[in-house]
This record gives sequence, structure tokens and C-alpha cells, in this order.
Amino acid sequence: MSRVFSGIQPTGEPHIGNYFGAMQNYVKLGQDYGKNSIYCVVDLHALTNPNAFDPALLAQRTLDMAVANFAVGLDPAQVTFFVQSQVPEHQELSWVLTNITPVGELERMTQYKDKAGQLESVPAGLLMYPVLMAADILLYKADTVPVGEDQTQHIELTREIARKFNHTFGETFPEPRAVNNKQALRIPGVDGHGKMSKSKGEQSTIGLFEPLDSIWAKLRVAPTDPARVRRTDPGDPDVCLVGDYHKLFSDDQTLRTVYDGCRSAGIGCVDCKKLLMTGIEEHLSPIQARGEALRADLDSVRDALAQGTREARAIAAPVMEEVRSKVGFLR
Ligand code: SF4
Repeated sequence: MSRVFSGIQPTGEPHIGNYFGAMQNYVKLGQDYGKNSIYCVVDLHALTNPNAFDPALLAQRTLDMAVANFAVGLDPAQVTFFVQSQVPEHQELSWVLTNITPVGELERMTQYKDKAGQLESVPAGLLMYPVLMAADILLYKADTVPVGEDQTQHIELTREIARKFNHTFGETFPEPRAVNNKQALRIPGVDGHGKMSKSKGEQSTIGLFEPLDSIWAKLRVAPTDPARVRRTDPGDPDVCLVGDYHKLFSDDQTLRTVYDGCRSAGIGCVDCKKLLMTGIEEHLSPIQARGEALRADLDSVRDALAQGTREARAIAAPVMEEVRSKVGFLR
């Protein structure tokens, strides 16, 4: 039986890069895999950033991330959706796996080196991050992990850890494969400075729940094809972030109007951006309305998470029992 696992960072309100890069894919996989698509908000992973310690904010962001995923169409009745810290088996398996993972392997992880390089004092949790991630995946014997390309190295390490466990204690875990979503890396920031990213500040992002007038204020001044100096100059929509966004939000007919119109100078950049805004409004308005309804009924969100926890533990508990038995804990 095939099973999908993905961890979702509680980063607060997601932006359209998160939506097209990951969340939309979760919805699709949920339709294909049903309860065997397992998603959790990884609040334990969030603790590995010592600069972000904020107990009230972490709880709020965890809830916000659940609301956001439900608002875009992830149905908690169809998939398994829960919060990582509410399933203690993640931490228990992580400890077992820590003991078969060489420190040298962890120290060569690119993401660890990048993050540790920015810190004066490096918490041990940051080094152990990929082990906890391996535990997240293996606890459900998941074989498919949708991730951004920046996580591929961690999945490769998860495969090595699974192999080592199987070799040492007997065949237990499948070796999961990463399914990369390349689009996640291509959505440009609305300020024109590289990939859309929360770390670059609000000017880079279009929030999924951002008011439409605020989105328009950013879009109105967004850079376009620099070669299109005058209205009469033809442009190239393939080098313009507005052209990129049209591919995400506009229907085929609008896309043709914009691409042909840009190349022939038949359409001006302001009109092109207004057409884009129409597509954004059509796309985001229902999501924003669902988000508002969910925020007005947070008890139902908490109930859905509690149910997800029960479903996750129903899978995790026997796997952990198998692990305890195989490593030789007294039972
Ligand atoms: Fe960009 Fe649209 Fe202007 Fe072409 S017409 S340069 S796609 S904003």
C-alpha cells in the first residue's frame, strides 16, 4: 500500500508561492490517496529556530496553518491531518533513529550548514532536524514524500537511515522517494527580487488571505519587462513576473490575449495587470471566504485536528510497538 507523508511548517499565513508550490499538490494527492495522504503541521521542527521562540505565536501559527490548508480545499475528512507534537511517537522514534545516524552525515547537510552559519550558538536540535524528519516519514511507513528540491538531501538521508535500521534490526521500513515540485522554486517575488519568500519581507509576497486592495497596491508598482520602456514597445511576457503570474491565475483565453498583446504592444502593462487582478480575485476570493468561516468556528478546526491525531496514532502506535520490540526494549 502506497502512503504519502508531508510536514508543513507553521510559518503563519502562507503566500501564493506556498499555495502553488505545495498546498495545491496536497489537495490533489489527498484526492488520490485519501486517508493514506498524511499531513502534519511540524511544530516540533519549528523549535529548531531559536530566534523564533514565541509560545503564543507558535500555537497561533499552528492553528493558522491548519485553517489555511482547509481553506484551500484540503478536506480533513478525506485525508489524515494533525499536529506533530500531539503524536508523541514522532519524538520516540526520532530518539531511536538518532542512535543509528552518524554525526558526520548530519554535519554535511547543506541546510544545516547554511542555518548554523548564521547562528552564534547552534542548538543540537538544528543538527538533529533531519533525524526528526526521517522519523516523521518512517513512523507511517510512507513511501512518497512531496518536497521542494531543497529537501531532497534530507530524503536521501532518510533512505540511508531506513536502510541502516533494516540492516541492524530487521526489515521494517520502506525507503521513501522524494517527489519534487519544481514550480515551488519558480514563483517570483512581486518585488522582482528573486523567488517569492517570506524571509524577504511582505513586499516580496502575495498572501493567500491578503486583502485585494493590498495585493493591487503591490501589483500596480511591480516591475515588468525592462525592455518595454514605452507603451508602443513590444514586450516579452516570459521575462516578466506579471506574465508568470498570468500562467497561474488566468484562463487560456486571457493568457493568449496577454501574451499576444504584450509581444505586439497591443496591450499596456496597466491593463495587463488589471486582467491579472481579475484572475487573482476569482481565485483567492473563495479561499479567503472559506478561511474567514473557519476562523469564525475554530472549535471545528480543533475537532478536525483531534480526529486527525487519533487517525495518525492508530498508524503510528503499532509501528512504534514494532520498533520497541525490534530494538529490545523490555515489554
Ligand atoms: Fe509584463 Fe504584461 Fe507588461 Fe507584458 S504587458 S511586460 S506581460 S506587464
